[in-house]
This record gives sequence, structure tokens and C-alpha cells, in this order.
Amino acid sequence: MRYPIGRCHHCGERLYEHIEGDYQCLNCNRRYESLEIESRAA
Ligand SMILES: [Zn+2]
Repeated sequence: MRYPIGRCHHCGERLYEHIEGDYQCLNCNRRYESLEIESRAA
């Protein structure tokens, strides 16, 4: 199960939790650390 968490800082698409513990944008395939998303969530 994957839930949308936060948004990509690059393209604005929603991020999905990755199996490795970080987050991935399915639109541009960028990866984000969880702390990075929380600190920048607006
Ligand atoms: Zn993106």
C-alpha cells in the first residue's frame, strides 16, 4: 500500500512512500528523505 505523502519540490506532483523508507515522485522519479519533506511541508 502506498499513500500520497507531501509534494515533489521539483514538479509539484504528489510523493509516494518508497519501500526503502524514503519517498519518490512518480512523475520525475526524484527521491526525497522523509525529514526533508516534513521540514518543507507547507
Ligand atoms: Zn517530481
